Amino acid sequence: MDLPSNASGPSAGIGQLESLGVKVRRVERPASEKEAQRIITLAFKEKWTVLPCGGGTSPAAGVLPETVDLALVTTGMNRVLAFDPRNLNMAVLAGITIDQINQFLAGQENGFFLPLDPPQSQRATIGGAYAANSSGPLRLRYGSLRDQVLGVRGVDSQGREVGFGGKTVKNVSGYDLTKFFIGSAGSLCLITSISLRVYPLPESSSLCDLIFGTLEELNKFLGALRNSVLIPSAVVVTGLAGGPGVSDTLGMRYRVMIACEGLRQAVERQNRDLMKMAGEFGGMGDARIGRDLMIRGVRSAVEPDRFLEDPLFLRISVPIAQGTRTFAAIHKTAQLYGISLKGALSAADGVMFVYVGGANRKNAAVFLKELKDLVQGGHGYIAPLLAHRSFLQSWVAKADPAVQRLILHPIKKSLDPNGVFPPIA
Ligand SMILES: Cc1cc2nc3c(=O)[nH]c(=O)nc-3n(C[C@H](O)[C@H](O)[C@H](O)COP(=O)(O)OP(=O)(O)OC[C@H]3O[C@@H](n4cnc5c(N)ncnc54)[C@H](O)[C@@H]3O)c2cc1C
Repeated sequence: MDLPSNASGPSAGIGQLESLGVKVRRVERPASEKEAQRIITLAFKEKWTVLPCGGGTSPAAGVLPETVDLALVTTGMNRVLAFDPRNLNMAVLAGITIDQINQFLAGQENGFFLPLDPPQSQRATIGGAYAANSSGPLRLRYGSLRDQVLGVRGVDSQGREVGFGGKTVKNVSGYDLTKFFIGSAGSLCLITSISLRVYPLPESSSLCDLIFGTLEELNKFLGALRNSVLIPSAVVVTGLAGGPGVSDTLGMRYRVMIACEGLRQAVERQNRDLMKMAGEFGGMGDARIGRDLMIRGVRSAVEPDRFLEDPLFLRISVPIAQGTRTFAAIHKTAQLYGISLKGALSAADGVMFVYVGGANRKNAAVFLKELKDLVQGGHGYIAPLLAHRSFLQSWVAKADPAVQRLILHPIKKSLDPNGVFPPIA
């Protein structure tokens, strides 16, 4: 049976899927929950496989099939359904981007925001961020997506509505299933709408931008910061190649960006304390007030510098105390294999983002193997977000077999008995 009339050709996102080794037979872009439901119902009847797609910033968060009959792109489902400033919540369709949400909120009287800052938030949809369990450096202060979601609705593989939660922070008796689909990466259902907590914009925001010449100085500074009474919203470390006064064996300096938010006086006081603390450990830099400046600074740390043909993007998590050591070791390994790399470490929670560019596939495969040993040897966890499917086959971390048998497989069977959606990782 033919698809409804708005079936369309490949978009930039779908082109990207194909460049990752996924063959896409058809593309569909519903504009409403009802339309999405109708398409999924049809797919079930026709025995098509369906891959839910948002902005396409991290398709490798889930299992990438070799072929999909239908890529269901949600970016046309981009409306705000409700906004309730008195109760600090909103409801949106799943395909709205995180930047669109924040533009809407900033434009409301008194100004509000959603503290969710995964990279490429101009492309990343809220449904994709939920399905991929994404967050960014602001996680330090506000928690991850699970702390912002109040309710979620979706469509299972047979076109039946599924949903949990509502509009209040406590709206569940027993298990809180609102978080149930977080990280399911398109394998259980299509997320169609989400209710979220929102926050009033702070009176003042700032960015403290510091450079340290050695890993030792950086570690001393971060240790002092962790033991201080300061409460930054984000602390991100990136590497800078060479430069004046560099004495690190890697030939690298370390840039630390610290975001602070709150009452103006409190923000200024924190900046003074941060600059003093940095000076004590050999750090240099400045602190400036401004929300755009803060958001841009933190965002630039976790964005790739440029996009290349064969991108490889990884999310790594290590115990906090091992963060900087692992960060430096990853750079060293990349140097050994002649690989250009951009890494960003959220220093207070041990989450790291590594963007590998300019590596041929063979070199990248060896590099990846070393990286896996390095991270897993330190009890860390490593997951690809953007990678060619040939990398993923031996790669995707499987859940514990008992968890698979007792929980994941029965759930998958009840929501998706015919395997319309991609398998669970
Ligand atoms: C350079 C770079 C840096 C990144 N840095 C970070 C970071 O710092 N922190 C972090 O947490 N993440 C990071 N990410 C990941 C990325 O920002 C998020 O995962 C992104 O928000 C996903 O949104 P999307 O709309 O692009 O989803 P997509 O990439 O389109 O999809 C992601 C997954 O969700 C599924 N999916 C999408 N929409 C739906 C839906 N409506 N219903 C069901 N399933 C769906 C897809 O099938 C896929 O498995 C980074 C990615 C890149 C490329």
